[in-house]
Amino acid sequence: MSLRFDGKVAIVTGAGGGLGRTYALELAKRGCKVVVNDLGGDRHGTSASSSMADKVVQEIKAAGGQAVANYDSVEFGDKIVKTAIDNFGRIGNFFQSLIFFYIGTLDIVINNAGILRDVSLLKMTELDWDLIFKVHVKGAYAVTKAAWPYMRDQKYGRIVVTSSNAGVHGNFGQANYAAAKSALIGFANSLAQEGAKYNILANTLVPTAGSRLTETVMPKNLVDALKPEYVTPLVTYMVHESFQESGKLFEAGAGWYGTIQYYKGKGKVISNASADDIAKNWSTITDMAGAEFIGTISEQSGRLMALLDENESSS
Ligand code: NAD
Repeated sequence: MSLRFDGKVAIVTGAGGGLGRTYALELAKRGCKVVVNDLGGDRHGTSASSSMADKVVQEIKAAGGQAVANYDSVEFGDKIVKTAIDNFGRIGNFFQSLIFFYIGTLDIVINNAGILRDVSLLKMTELDWDLIFKVHVKGAYAVTKAAWPYMRDQKYGRIVVTSSNAGVHGNFGQANYAAAKSALIGFANSLAQEGAKYNILANTLVPTAGSRLTETVMPKNLVDALKPEYVTPLVTYMVHESFQESGKLFEAGAGWYGTIQYYKGKGKVISNASADDIAKNWSTITDMAGAEFIGTISEQSGRLMALLDENESSS
């Protein structure tokens, strides 16, 4: 096993089952100290128990690994981070601790906890909308925000947020979930920029796997075939110190691994355009031939300035 995590500390949220459990087991197997967070509720986010996290911690310990359970909801990220620091915090060497008051560390956060409350927009309640945002978006924010100062001080961090194909494409009956999963892409891409000078890398994962979330929408044979373990190797690599990508979107499922990127069509500059000009030029405006990859917002700003010049010189 060449990708080792000895001495590293990770939080995996929602690690009591499904995908998160496999990440926690794999990281621990590779020497990482893992906080196994799980609220232990049902798939709709309306109950709680300690048994799910405890079971995974027992599994890790039985295999000779190091782990501790945490049962807080992800919206209380500071409590989850406190569990990591209290149990696995490193005290730096004597001089470091004197100079930097360096009293603990946390290297990896995998924001994985999730629930579903699928319903069409017409029938959606405030609770359906709010609970989805509380767990997925507020949860990822709260855990990452609490971890950030530790990562910044030690100039090292690996963060994964979990999106979904629903967040990329939208999905019938999932306006709440798709909106939240889409929000997480913008969240990770922004963290990638804020973390760059501190060696904090943030990326988004789009997984597909059989789990108790997907057993409501997939036939049983597919749930059984799409093993969560097919996703685990990608996530494990994404949080390793040798991994250098940031602000990217990666996908895994069914043994396939790939990336999703945004390309912008060449479009057309039309000076003093009217709605009629837009209609007349629609096929050119929407043509994706020669589309360009836009990696960052500063690339986009540069492109916009060049287009403005083109507009002004042609008007
Ligand atoms: P899962 O239900 O098996 O696992 C989610 C875990 O999160 C559960 O153990 C649950 O108890 C825990 N959890 C829920 N709310 C929590 C909270 N407030 N605080 C702490 N823990 C909480 O589902 P899964 O399929 O393994 O999903 C993992 C993640 O992957 C989710 O974010 C999900 O939206 C995402 N995802 C999964 C798929 C898929 O195909 N399975 C596809 C796209 C995205």
